[in-house]
Amino acid sequence: MQQSYDCPICLSISVDPIQLSQCNHIFCSACIVDLLDYNNQSYKCPLCRQLYQKNEPLIINQELAKKIKESNPELYVQRQQQILQQQMMLPNQIKVSVVYGNLYEKIKNNDKNQHQWTLVVKMDYNKESDRVALKNFDINNMIESVTYQLHATFRPSVVTVKQAPFQLQRLGWGTFMIPFLIKFKKEYNIPNLTVDHYLSFQGNGSLQKQITKLDISNVKEYQEISEQQNQQQQLQQQQ
Ligand SMILES: [Zn+2]
Ligand SMILES: [Zn+2]
Repeated sequence: MQQSYDCPICLSISVDPIQLSQCNHIFCSACIVDLLDYNNQSYKCPLCRQLYQKNEPLIINQELAKKIKESNPELYVQRQQQILQQQMMLPNQIKVSVVYGNLYEKIKNNDKNQHQWTLVVKMDYNKESDRVALKNFDINNMIESVTYQLHATFRPSVVTVKQAPFQLQRLGWGTFMIPFLIKFKKEYNIPNLTVDHYLSFQGNGSLQKQITKLDISNVKEYQEISEQQNQQQQLQQQQ
């Protein structure tokens, strides 16, 4: 059996691969580093949720990199260039994440519809420093609308939420796949995002994250802050 070198995050071959020490799962270094930005103390394998402490370093496995590159040199180089391009951030760009999924609560009633689920879409920062810098900006304000396509047995089965919180609560008896169409306000220049979420009735539900870039030069709250800072600097220079 041939071992798969595919990265479960980008679904292409793993570039500059990192192999986690306990579960042996392989990812592109760029892909996994992107995902692990959230938590300071520990991190989980994005595939199997194996827990690692942050002091276990993520090191590119050069031997494995060579093997993967040899298995498909053209694709490897192509992916390497794509990743490089994705990582080139303009000075005014920050990474933010779209958090989506469902919350879950079991309801006590005699009906068979005893599963209460709430579909959720919200924005979050990837870095605390960005959250502080943009504290006057309501990041959920980036979202224009979220369209949830429910199972055909729901009436209506397609629901568009146009106001924060972009949530939708229903009672049901079974799980199914729900496509989310997330539209952002024009001024943020972020393409529409379509994600598929499989409804979860386990624990409190399940949330996932997708990273996108935000051009903060389009955020007027950020402009106001940088203007204030400029004015203060000018005042200090004049004194
Ligand atoms: Zn990858
Ligand atoms: Zn794993």
